Amino acid sequence: MLEHAQRILKDVFGYDSFRGRQGAIIERVANGGDALVLMPTGGGKSLCFQVPALLREGLAVVVSPLIALMDDQVATLDELGVAAAALNSTLSADAQREIAERIKRGEIKMLYLAPERLVQPRMLSFLQNLDIALFAIDEAHCVSQWGHDFRPEYLQLGQLAELFPNVPRIALTATADMRTREEIVQRLHLQNAERFLSSFDRPNIFYRIVPKEQPRKQLLSFLGARKGDAGIVYCLSRKKVEEVAAFLSEQGFPALPYHAGLANELRAYHQKRFLNEEGLIMVATIAFGMGIDKPNVRFVAHLDLPKSLEAYYQETGRAGRDGLPADAWMAYGLQDVIFLKQMLNNSEGDERHKRVEQHKLDAMLALCEETRCRRQALLAYFDEEMPQPCGHCDNCIDGVQTWDATEPARQALSAIYRTGQRYGVGHLVDVLLGRDNDKIRAVGHQHLAVFGIGKALNEGEWRSLFRQLVARGLADVDLEGFGGLRLADSCRPLLKGEVSLQLRRDLKPQQSAKASSSAASQLVRGEERSQWEALRTLRRKLAEEHGVPPYVIFPDATLLEMLRSKPSTLAEMARVSGVGARKLDRYGEAFLDVLGAADEAPRAVLDLRHELVSLARAGMTPAQIAAQLKCSEKNVYGMLAEAITQQQLSLEHALDLPEALLAEIQDAFLDGEGELPTAAAIGEQFAGRVELGVLHCVRAALQAEFET
Ligand code: ADP
Ligand code: ZN
Repeated sequence: MLEHAQRILKDVFGYDSFRGRQGAIIERVANGGDALVLMPTGGGKSLCFQVPALLREGLAVVVSPLIALMDDQVATLDELGVAAAALNSTLSADAQREIAERIKRGEIKMLYLAPERLVQPRMLSFLQNLDIALFAIDEAHCVSQWGHDFRPEYLQLGQLAELFPNVPRIALTATADMRTREEIVQRLHLQNAERFLSSFDRPNIFYRIVPKEQPRKQLLSFLGARKGDAGIVYCLSRKKVEEVAAFLSEQGFPALPYHAGLANELRAYHQKRFLNEEGLIMVATIAFGMGIDKPNVRFVAHLDLPKSLEAYYQETGRAGRDGLPADAWMAYGLQDVIFLKQMLNNSEGDERHKRVEQHKLDAMLALCEETRCRRQALLAYFDEEMPQPCGHCDNCIDGVQTWDATEPARQALSAIYRTGQRYGVGHLVDVLLGRDNDKIRAVGHQHLAVFGIGKALNEGEWRSLFRQLVARGLADVDLEGFGGLRLADSCRPLLKGEVSLQLRRDLKPQQSAKASSSAASQLVRGEERSQWEALRTLRRKLAEEHGVPPYVIFPDATLLEMLRSKPSTLAEMARVSGVGARKLDRYGEAFLDVLGAADEAPRAVLDLRHELVSLARAGMTPAQIAAQLKCSEKNVYGMLAEAITQQQLSLEHALDLPEALLAEIQDAFLDGEGELPTAAAIGEQFAGRVELGVLHCVRAALQAEFET
């Protein structure tokens, strides 16, 4: 079974080996068992049902919640030569009937459906009259009411267990938590399903979180090292999305806005452009994401803080689906914390709900202020233990300095207290630094005992300290008012001197800027750029001709491998990961041409030599070869001599000389002592009888003989 699966993997998909648990999952489902698959984004879930679908008789039915995703998968399968179709409301009645007919004739292998469509009684009875290979339920967490993607239609999928008792079902999701997992099993009636849990680590993503100072400038410097890469920039508000998109465009970064306030057509158009074009930046609210299967998103940048680690993981997870290096970058500051806390406070919902949300936000803040490996902290939140620091996040790479902030923290807290617990950070810093300005004088704060006690730190250090006090819950934000700070109950032990406080020292912007040119920007090295662009141009052209996104033709990883391994024949091309039989047939030559164009000149000589050797072996005389290759006889002799020297050709094959004449020439060469004379040196002796080129060849043969 697995052997057959391997063959399909190579022939159809062009891949050499299964990733992670794919092999075991495929075996389970192909043998008729149920499975629950939890795998992170980019882990390779699709193959887990596509390969068994090809291994089993009958129609495979795939349930997917989003039309855009279905179309993408159908297009991808189509390019691989697998007959697939999607039935959805965007199709005309005629088109739907046509698909139904093709299914009945057994011409379709995989059918994609929205859940509400599948559970229609007519559809179910239609399917009951067919041979069904398997049901795959993608995005299975949509059955969970706790998640943010709940879809009531998913609840009805449980009936498949009773209606199709002998058809294997595989449910897949990238949502990790335990509660969702159990809900899926229960609600989809997957009692006997084997569970396949993968690590949720995304090893190719580099995580970096920087303190927000001048966010636009920081963003530009981050993007500067990533020109030409596709990415997503997340902002909280629609207004900010519009502004940042305009700003980036002005600065020469092609960027489009995306938020729920845009007209539907415009939004759809921007999404389509993002998928189909390369190097576009989508500036978006969180309305953008679900259903973005674009594998070569090279970075996700957050200009505002997400509400929870779940959201952060999901949003950053849209980067690097293709497994190539990608970046998750975020700028974060006190203002974010204040804003999110206020939003939470003003949101509807009961106290319990608010408390849960507050905990989630606290976990997000803790990651921002984390002093250990970010990845370890992130995975720990999802109950996954990572034994060693990852070596692939800012904290691991730059190191984190902490400092004893006990005394300054007490000063800061007393500044909050003495000023009446209603001022924002700007004013508090002015007080601590002893700035004698109108605002201070207007309220008489120059007379406070805390006025000017904090001159040991600078403004930036104070701001960093206040941010960390709030993030750690030692100070609270006045949620009704204007972001004034108050003491939190938990700060008492610190004020009383019972505990000390270690804080993270922020990196200077230039330090983090220098360190920010990480992983992704080194994907293609300078000298490879032009050929890389040529490959991408060809891919774009083919994609346009076929009406599909470029990555459907070949993913970046495949182009990159072509660039590095430089296949020069179709057979070598077939070995490149991601080149299956169908794509080899359709596109192999075109990509070989682009790869070959760069070394056309040296290659031409090699090809000519190759042909010459074949012709000589076939018995052609030098004159005939010259005519065939359209070059001079002198050139032919030159190339023959070279081929003989390199032992690609024997003298007998090259020339048809009478034996006596050959012996005479050999004697002439071997007459003297020491080095062989040149052909020209003995040329006179044979003038009129033999061509100089013949002498070259005989000499080459003697030389080859001596060298072995
Ligand atoms: P998911 O649905 O889990 O996010 P996909 O199924 O879209 O992931 O797969 C992510 C990428 O990895 C795709 O480009 C896919 O072709 C590729 N991929 C999946 N399995 C393999 C494999 N065994 N070898 C190489 N590439 C793979
Ligand atoms: Zn790390």
